[in-house]
Amino acid sequence: MLEHTQNQTCVVIGASHAGVNFAFSLRKQGYAGNITLIDIDPTLPYHRPPLSKAYLTSDNDIASNALKAADSYIKENIKLMLGTKVAKIDAEHKHVIMADGTNIQFDQLVIATGARPFIPPIEGLTTASNLYPLRTAADVTKIKTALKQSEHKRVVIIGGGYIGLETAASMQKLGAQVTVLEREERILARVTAPEMSSFFQQLHADNGVNVLTSKNVASIQTNNGHNQVICADGEQFDADVIVVGVGIRVNSEIAADAGLTEDNGIHVNESAQTNVKNIYAIGDCAYHYNPHFARFIRLESVQNALDQGKVAAANICGKDTQYDTIPWFWSDQYDIKLQMVGLSQGYNKIVKRTEPSDNHKFSVWYFKDDELLAVDAVNNAKAYVLGTKFIKNRSKVDKQKLADLTVDFKADTLVIN
Ligand SMILES: Cc1cc2nc3c(=O)[nH]c(=O)nc-3n(C[C@H](O)[C@H](O)[C@H](O)COP(=O)(O)OP(=O)(O)OC[C@H]3O[C@@H](n4cnc5c(N)ncnc54)[C@H](O)[C@@H]3O)c2cc1C
Repeated sequence: MLEHTQNQTCVVIGASHAGVNFAFSLRKQGYAGNITLIDIDPTLPYHRPPLSKAYLTSDNDIASNALKAADSYIKENIKLMLGTKVAKIDAEHKHVIMADGTNIQFDQLVIATGARPFIPPIEGLTTASNLYPLRTAADVTKIKTALKQSEHKRVVIIGGGYIGLETAASMQKLGAQVTVLEREERILARVTAPEMSSFFQQLHADNGVNVLTSKNVASIQTNNGHNQVICADGEQFDADVIVVGVGIRVNSEIAADAGLTEDNGIHVNESAQTNVKNIYAIGDCAYHYNPHFARFIRLESVQNALDQGKVAAANICGKDTQYDTIPWFWSDQYDIKLQMVGLSQGYNKIVKRTEPSDNHKFSVWYFKDDELLAVDAVNNAKAYVLGTKFIKNRSKVDKQKLADLTVDFKADTLVIN
């Protein structure tokens, strides 16, 4: 136990993956003072990834999806203030002010405010019937209820990113007739190679989901609760339920108002510290330096939220620790498990390795000249593990051998010494 922290208070804004795991990690690392976790969401903190996957298709209560059991907060003496909004941070006087005007003094402040769905300025969107984003447990409840109550179960999903596509797969499983409208020429255009986009496009087609690209939604007309989604090219789609999944906006306004440096997220150094002493930012809201890729990035992934929470906790407990992780992310659609490691931006060569398998099993390797930047592994945990190792070690990988199925898929044979 760190006795010098006994009379201190650490306040955490945001009780989701980053904030909750930070708080438990802080306690584990010996912090003896008060830990207060604050969140607008009234629900006991829960896992977000299943919201568009297994949780969306199940009838389980959100409690089955909790990050930690309710009594574990009590056991670790972590105070949870749910349904509470922090309206302002007073960095100078070291307190946070709630929307109801009350305030809490802090010695250390951790901002883990994450992100909110971006709601595009589409004409008629705000008056559409049964139109929801998908970020919270409450959003899922509304989507499920609307689907159950709709007669024809026609679902239009605006946006063909991971959340849109996972939602499409889940809604299809629930018996809906699903159309995905993507503005770009291919789905997942921002995050993956054309090979992966084509694979997912086909996968959805095979499962009866209508994925349409180059479809820019221009307006939504709603009459008597019936929606007509109208694209810029004039094509129209009937929709009983509409899900909007077109990206996020970082919740960084209260940080910026408090004078913290902010630009595509809250700027933090390798120790998760902002430009103000004793104020940290972690998770989706943090614009951080990644030493491996030698640039500032902002990630939207659970692993990043957990890792940065651990780093902030260690630093608050006096252990000089730096964030140095290779980003990774996963997505589940139908019976496909996609694991992605690294950052593919800037690649100029791709190698695809397809394993003999009844179910799709392949990996796409992204290179910039001889440097391996990232790997997308489909139903292939080994490719994900090897890729992580190679990227971390900056191994030079023999591209020809990588594509050659007669060559053993292991480090000894693939790495050029
Ligand atoms: C549907 C869905 C599926 C996903 N699937 C995956 C996946 O498969 N793999 C993966 O790695 N990642 C996935 N993600 C992303 C992952 O969930 C996020 O990266 C992760 O939740 C980030 O955690 P966080 O704690 O930084 O932010 P968030 O989870 O966004 O939490 C921030 C919290 O802060 C609270 N808050 C904000 N402002 C205030 C305020 N002023 N006062 C009080 N509280 C405030 C919010 O209510 C929220 O609870 C998915 C996300 C969604 C929405």
